[in-house]
Parts: sequence; C-alpha cells; structure tokens
Amino acid sequence: MRASEIRALFSVANRPEVVSLAGGMPYLEGLPLDVIAETMQRLIATKGTTALQYGSGQGEESLREHITQVVALEGVSAHPDDVVVTTGSQSALDLVTRIFVDPGDVVLAEAPSYVGALGVFRSYQADVVQVPLDADGLVPAELDATLTRLAGEGRRVKFLYTVPTFQNPAGVSLSAERRPQVLEICRRHGVLVVEDNPYGLLGFDDEPLPALRSYDTDGVLYLGSFSKTFAPGYRVGFVIAPHAVRDKLVLASESAVLSPSNASQLAVATYLETCDWKAQIKAYRELYRERRDALVGALGEHLPGASWNVPRGGFFVWVRLPEGLDARAMLPRAVTARVAYVPGTAFYFDSRGADHMRLSFCFPTPERIREGVRRLAGVVNGEAEL
Ligand code: PMP
Repeated sequence: MRASEIRALFSVANRPEVVSLAGGMPYLEGLPLDVIAETMQRLIATKGTTALQYGSGQGEESLREHITQVVALEGVSAHPDDVVVTTGSQSALDLVTRIFVDPGDVVLAEAPSYVGALGVFRSYQADVVQVPLDADGLVPAELDATLTRLAGEGRRVKFLYTVPTFQNPAGVSLSAERRPQVLEICRRHGVLVVEDNPYGLLGFDDEPLPALRSYDTDGVLYLGSFSKTFAPGYRVGFVIAPHAVRDKLVLASESAVLSPSNASQLAVATYLETCDWKAQIKAYRELYRERRDALVGALGEHLPGASWNVPRGGFFVWVRLPEGLDARAMLPRAVTARVAYVPGTAFYFDSRGADHMRLSFCFPTPERIREGVRRLAGVVNGEAEL
C-alpha cells in the first residue's frame, strides 16, 4: 500500500479559504435533512433492536429488494438473491479484488482510472494495465489488441475494471454502440467485467444508459452505491453477481466485517421506502448540471489555452493543460493561490498524466467554482510565462 503523495496537500486544500475542485464529495445541503431526521428517529423507535443488531453477511433483505428497483432504472434485472450489500462500493472493490486477484495477475483498467480502485489493485499486488479511452469511453480496438498481446505473453488477466458512465476522472461515457462490443471482446478473451457505476443515474440531459450488466449477467459484476445518489456517510454500496461469485463475496465480506452495518442498511431502506428518492436524484442532477455549466463556462473564459471535455453527468471535468505544464509540480503553487485540484498522475498506475488535472464541480457553489477557476487561471497563465 502506498500513501498518496498529494495527501499532505489535501489537509491544506480542505481549509475554508481554499476553493477545492479536488475532492468528489456530494453536496449534501441538497438533501431534505429534516425529513431524513424524522425518518431515522422513526426507524430506531420501531425497528431499533434489528437496526442496532448484527446482520447477515449478504445484507438486509428489504434493502436488497429496493436495490433491484434502483438498478432496474438502468435496465438491470436482478433478484434480491443476486445482491451482496457492502460498506460503500469501495469495500466491494476490495472484496472483488481479494477473491479474484493473486499477486502478479493482470487487472485491466481505463487510462485514466479511479484512483481508489488503482490503490486497491496495488494493495493486492496486481499488475494494472491501462487501456486508452476517448470521448466515447474505452476504445474497443485497443482493448482487443491489449488482451491479444497479454495472451501472447502468457499473462493471466483476471478482469476488466471499468467505470462506463460519467467516468472518474475523465467524465466520459462508453457509447451505446461500444457497450456490446466491449462485452463481446471480454467474453471472447475469457475476461470478467467489473462494472463500477456510482454515477449512472446522475445524467444531466438524457435517459440513463443501459448498464453493461443489462446485456450480460454471467460475465459482468455490477458495483453500485448510494453515496452519490443519496449520501456517502451511511457507507452503503452493493455488488450484483452470479451466484458462484456472490457466495465467495459473502464469505470474504464476513471475514472482513462479519456483516455490513444493519443501522446503515435499514436507514437507506427506510429512505427508499418513505422518501421520494427519484425526486432527490432529479434535484441532484439539476444542482450538478448548474455547477458543470459554471465550471465549463469559467474554463472557457479564463483558460483558453487548455482543453477539456463537457461531461453529460457525474462530477468531473478532465482538463489537458497547455503544452509543457506539469499539474503535479504546479499543485503547491495552486494551493498557495487558494485553489486545489487532483493532478492527472493520480489516475495512472505508471507515471503518466502530469499534463492533465481533474476538476470536480460537485461540492463548491457556482460562485466559488468561478472564483476557483479565476485563481487557477492565474497560476496556469503565470506558469506558462515562466
Ligand atoms: N468508484 C468510483 C468510480 C468512485 O468515484 C467512488 C467514490 N469516489 C467509489 C467507487 C467509492 O464510493 P463509495 O465507497 O462511497 O460507494
């Protein structure tokens, strides 16, 4: 395991005077906290001895039932028996890696990929091979060529880890045309797909894209989370898996935590049962769309030398810096100028990525986002002149 080299800077980045475009924290002031408080009080009053007790390794059945309704919005048809509840999807990533990966095995991921997943893969001594993505997500021809090359070298590829919708950090989605192609390639090479989909319901314009799992139930493990559509503090995520894998996941989860928190699971189940969760997701979408617009607008105004994608959902904009600039080297100066971001290097297993930065628009208000980009532009334009 390795501490992130940018961690020390983040304690500074979290100071109130710094505009943080770094973290991916959802904006919880968008939640009806009074309604949730009432619901939680009722939960403890009526089901306190269950909520505060140990639970099952697979997770609370009423929650697993609700989960099947949530994932149906992305075309996934699942039975409560297919679901394993985990402590956030981060713990799902850890359990999946624990059951599949031996030291030296290859895990495929997108280039760039979610920093928290790369950390898990590293901790199990996987060798991560990253496959390029473009504006339409993972590039199928590159995936096929990489798998063919690895097979030729006699390497064991355990799974493809992908965030197909509103990717972290690149903000792009795998297009509807490419989805079956990616699955066909993985099936042909005998490689499992781990689909990590915490942002899928946070699209700004369109209907949700069908999840990869909606095309293929044997070859895809689906990881979901309530962190972005409700609240991360409960730490409730889940895996939908074929039963042979599900059984191993339950054993691994029991070994790690005995059972995920019953209090959290019942809290989320009660929220889904008694609150208008679809309206909440819609409210989040509108809030984040406005912030995306603020960020992209401010970039256009202040950083014309850089280039970026305009994400259609999720939390992130992936910015390519003007030629010759190094996002990692620049970060201390940015923090001094009271703005923070994550340098692109965090999202690669090797040392690439210094020419990019990830900017999150989820937490700061539109006003603060514009101020943050003004500060960032001061630093970038100053560097460019050096
Ligand atoms: N996967 C991705 C792609 C993420 O962005 C995150 C959170 N930043 C996670 C997994 C973990 O989320 P959680 O454990 O809160 O469900």
